[in-house]
Amino acid sequence: MRLLLVEDDLELANGLVHALAQSGYTVDSVQRGGDALTACATTAYQLVVLDLGLPDIDGVEVLRRLRRDVMTMPVLILTARDDVQHRVQGLDAGGDDYLSKPFDVAELEARIRALLRRGDPTGATLRLGLLAFEPAARRLTVAGVDLELTARELGVVELLMRRPGRIVSKKQIFDSVYDDEHDAGLSNVEVLVSRVRRKLAASRAGVGIRVFRGMGYRLELAQARDANPA
Ligand code: CA
Repeated sequence: MRLLLVEDDLELANGLVHALAQSGYTVDSVQRGGDALTACATTAYQLVVLDLGLPDIDGVEVLRRLRRDVMTMPVLILTARDDVQHRVQGLDAGGDDYLSKPFDVAELEARIRALLRRGDPTGATLRLGLLAFEPAARRLTVAGVDLELTARELGVVELLMRRPGRIVSKKQIFDSVYDDEHDAGLSNVEVLVSRVRRKLAASRAGVGIRVFRGMGYRLELAQARDANPA
């Protein structure tokens, strides 16, 4: 489980990173909104803890941009105790829950667990071509017929479907599907993706994974892929 903590109060941030690491989470910590957007664009996080009062881009704006880029991971907002208006803006911008400062770390962890259990807050079915993925059921279908994939293969498809039109790097896929592995390397991602490519091709979903050498992968409609062979 990889989380992103966006908090410019360094003392608070360091304490939270330490506590969350103790509970088994991998936590990346940034202090600025701009760095949060960069981090989310390059790494697949299962959840973001976002302070709203940041020195550069306001946390509400960070959240709006994440949601605009179809990043649907749960976001837990941190606000000043009496900042009701900011809190409401945060929830309106796509926040899933909030905590007012000061808070107990145990409560933060309970909220994080609840959000992770809930999974994709929108729960919306992702679609491309004849391919449809239902996040809650973790069900992938082609024109309504189940496509049997392993949990990791499904993870690859989900990640690519959540980044429509964008290239996803090997490292992003690795971080997303091999989080608990010690013996896996980026070459495992290549093998995994080629398996998914074969299954998609055989499924006649009209969707394929285009390989960008040295960069990563993108999910595309077969027509677009045929026009620009990798
Ligand atoms: Ca702050």
